[in-house]
Amino acid sequence: MGRIFNFSAGPAMLPAEVLQEAADEMLDYRGSGMSVMEMSHRSKEYGDIITEAEKDLRDLMNIPENYKVLFLQGGASQQFAAVPMNLMKNKVADYIITGQWAKKAYKEAQMYGKANAIASSEDKTYSYIPDCSDLPISEDADYVYICENNTIYGTKFKTLPNTKGKDLVADVSSCFLSEPVDVKQYGLIFGGVQKNIGPAGVVIAIIREDLITEDTLAGTPTMLKYKIHADNKSLYNTPPAYGIYMCGKVFKWIKKMGGLDAMKLHNEKKAAILYDFLDQSKLFKGTVVKEDRSLMNVPFVTGDEELDAKFVKEAKAAGFVNLKGHRTVGGMRASIYNAMPIEGVEKLVQFMKEFESSIK
Ligand SMILES: *Cc1c(COP(=O)(O)O)cnc(C)c1O
Repeated sequence: MGRIFNFSAGPAMLPAEVLQEAADEMLDYRGSGMSVMEMSHRSKEYGDIITEAEKDLRDLMNIPENYKVLFLQGGASQQFAAVPMNLMKNKVADYIITGQWAKKAYKEAQMYGKANAIASSEDKTYSYIPDCSDLPISEDADYVYICENNTIYGTKFKTLPNTKGKDLVADVSSCFLSEPVDVKQYGLIFGGVQKNIGPAGVVIAIIREDLITEDTLAGTPTMLKYKIHADNKSLYNTPPAYGIYMCGKVFKWIKKMGGLDAMKLHNEKKAAILYDFLDQSKLFKGTVVKEDRSLMNVPFVTGDEELDAKFVKEAKAAGFVNLKGHRTVGGMRASIYNAMPIEGVEKLVQFMKEFESSIK
């Protein structure tokens, strides 16, 4: 049984040694006689697991003390509602539309207040990040919202928007822990973990304390109130316990690898191998403007749908799976998150070269 190179956009590859460790602990977690899946979330053992996970995440991201870390469920998509329900005190928020995920969040927010699309790159199939240095930020906006890395289109904000003093809310699902972050620049950072950290079902929210209040929109479900989860240290109800345990293991793996600075170098190196090849290939080309390229998701096309399909099929047979692009972009997309080894990208590029010369 071998592990193949999985270029899925999510759920995505996890480090093999993390999976192995979880396998070793599956039946008997450290002498407890049970799996973490079978454990009470109120037990001492589980208390240690979630406390340590939070501590390791705080260390990795250098999270200031006045920010809470919440382990939630419902996917990143649930946050599209939770964010306005908790933060729209004036019922106004500004959204920057850089792809489908941002657009979904924007549409969801419209149900709760006045959501303004203050910038968009939809005119060019979201292949760039708009200039956000001087946007018409609404005077009474409760927050400015971005999707920091656009999983489907392969763009990333290299500089954060100038929010003119408003709190920044960012969906970081597909760039979580891929490079260092200055948490202070944000009011709220959230992300589903299934792209870069752990199993689907866990969402992590990092939120500045003053934004956590009782004053939520009328009708906000208890389970969507940040204050409930903050007051109960993410144990208001049964959390996605096993998933959080896996996240904790990945945090330790990243620490062992050298933390977020090392992750960034590792990710830059991988992305450069692929982008450098794309830039000189006569067959394949990247779909995103250079300066906004994501380190995590790399979409590319041949310009010929049949050839794209042939490539995806042959790549799969050669052990490079899930390279088919999102249905709205077509072509291919290689997602090369933290756990993708350099070797995976090198071998993929080698395969692309061979494919290219077989076509000519
Ligand atoms: C995958 C993804 C989502 C959706 O996550 P779910 O957990 O499926 O709700 C939202 N935003 C971004 C940026 C994503 O990559």
